[in-house]
Amino acid sequence: MSHRRFFINPTDITGENVQMTGPEAHHLRTVLRLAPGDPITFFDGTGARYQARIERILKDRVTATIIEQSQDLPPKVHLHLGQALLKGHKMDLILQKATELGVDTIWPFSSEHGIHKPIKDAQMERWQRIVLEACKQCDRAKPPEINDTRKITDLMAHAPQCDTRLIFWEHEARQTLPEIFADQNTDCRSVFFLLGPEGGFSETEVACAQQEGFIPVSLGSRILRAETATLAATAILQFTLGNLNPTAQIKSGE
Ligand code: SAH
Repeated sequence: MSHRRFFINPTDITGENVQMTGPEAHHLRTVLRLAPGDPITFFDGTGARYQARIERILKDRVTATIIEQSQDLPPKVHLHLGQALLKGHKMDLILQKATELGVDTIWPFSSEHGIHKPIKDAQMERWQRIVLEACKQCDRAKPPEINDTRKITDLMAHAPQCDTRLIFWEHEARQTLPEIFADQNTDCRSVFFLLGPEGGFSETEVACAQQEGFIPVSLGSRILRAETATLAATAILQFTLGNLNPTAQIKSGE
């Protein structure tokens, strides 16, 4: 069985000793029922991965010894997802899958035909928990950064400077991803891509995005549900950019 994975704070590590407390320690003890001597993996949220061995399991904490440290290699191309707020639990699904698929940062936004409600702290905490759980499941050492929600116009004006900016638009009749990347002479190291809400982008938003250098791109003639479109766009982008090669994900030692 693969090692069980846990998140700790960098401050829980002193030299090769780890002191784990709180819900993760509770989970280890009462749900997983691990024992001293069992091998486990720790992430500290900064991108470091530690292989360790459990030493002691106490009521309020678990101690472990680090045996080896590794790091995920940075991706060949960094991916930044601008995602319109979606209804119900669809954002949860997107955050989980975007984490598994290797998106670096997530930028939720409100737009004309989408949700406008401000995001509460509890919602943000839930999203953070979802990406941490996804990291544990897929053995990703560094969780994606989730940015505060903003208006689409703000996001387009202040989006991180990336080599390529894309807006996935169901009314784009010509351009596909392979064509866009074939046209790019420059070595593309980062992509910012926007996905719209259930109601789609307005014509004004698409025009505004184009002014800000976003290239409209199609995922085919069928109109996909918002969450399908995001997952498909992310996977296709990662494949096109060469980020799904096993060698692009190798873990390096210290
Ligand atoms: N309400 C719209 C559909 C919106 S789909 C309508 O019925 O016409 C939600 C989002 O998914 C869109 O904003 C777009 O970003 C993406 N999307 C869905 N299908 C797509 C396609 N074929 N090509 C590119 N993007 C697509």
